[in-house]
Amino acid sequence: MATNKKEQVTAATPPQPSGLRFFREILGQEWVVSHLKGAMRAGRLSHAYLFLGPEGVGKATTARALAAALNCAQPGGDGDACGVCPSCRRLAAGTHPDFLVISPDEKKTQISIEQIRELRRLTEYPPLGGGWRVVLIKPAEALSVMNDAAANALLKTLEEPPPQHLLVLTARGEADLLPTIVSRCHKLAFAPLPAALIIRELESRRGIPPARAALVAALSGGSLGRALTLDPEELVRQRDQVLSDLERLHRGSAAAVLDWAQRLTKNRGDLDSFLLLAQLWYRDLLLSHFQAPSSLLAHQDLLPALAQARAQGRPETWFATFTALGAAQRQLQANLNPELTLDILGLHIQPQGNPHDSR
Ligand SMILES: [Zn+2]
Repeated sequence: MATNKKEQVTAATPPQPSGLRFFREILGQEWVVSHLKGAMRAGRLSHAYLFLGPEGVGKATTARALAAALNCAQPGGDGDACGVCPSCRRLAAGTHPDFLVISPDEKKTQISIEQIRELRRLTEYPPLGGGWRVVLIKPAEALSVMNDAAANALLKTLEEPPPQHLLVLTARGEADLLPTIVSRCHKLAFAPLPAALIIRELESRRGIPPARAALVAALSGGSLGRALTLDPEELVRQRDQVLSDLERLHRGSAAAVLDWAQRLTKNRGDLDSFLLLAQLWYRDLLLSHFQAPSSLLAHQDLLPALAQARAQGRPETWFATFTALGAAQRQLQANLNPELTLDILGLHIQPQGNPHDSR
């Protein structure tokens, strides 16, 4: 069925976190949290941290929780903030004078040198609340954090860290920052979140049934932030379309291949979704062939259909198709002609490997 709604499964805007955060709210990053709590207790916090990891796994939330715990007037025995003291109340209201977030200005992709200069002027003065000034430096999604001029200005702050100041930079990977910046920060790696955790959160926060949540979790890349922005109904619609395309391709009519290739090359979002969702289907077939626990499968709502497909196909074919889909994804990322890529892919998916065979 045709629809005007053309959402890409890859497009997602992370939710804007705000206010007070507690260490106990951070999910799936036990190692990072216990490291930070330990450093706090021992009075051995670094003056600059680099939180590395994908979008939506808790990097900014952790920076907020750290600011809350460091400035809390009566932290709990577990090192977490109390939530009720004046500092915690100001953080909750977003008006704490010693917690700053620096991110690219609206419509900009990078943090500017002016923003860093302003930060440097501010750090000449001690924190206003008498505790710690925590500065969270956040990049725009999927782009490098700052230009070289801004980075070099920041470097001066990192080389001569002002007392009672703590900088937290976040990035997807070290390559997003100048090596000179990276080398002056204490690096902490945030892991992608396990699917089971994401499914549980989707169920409790959004009321999404686990059978549907499994598909969302599988496509989230371990990012809760991203999972929360994906629309499960739309994903199921796209997935059903992909499965019906695959079935037509398997039946092997040349007309089906042409129709499929034409439709997908018109819209890059549809094409990316097809490659991702089709891979997920063959991944599930292979997992179930190797008798992985069924809780690991993304298509929890289609277990009987999976069992049927398993009975009718062969793992070598699934693996070859899975590999071909991945290769097509890489070729498109390298800007190879989409039509050519799809022709090659069609050859792989078809039973006899010949798209011009009109059976
Ligand atoms: Zn407090």
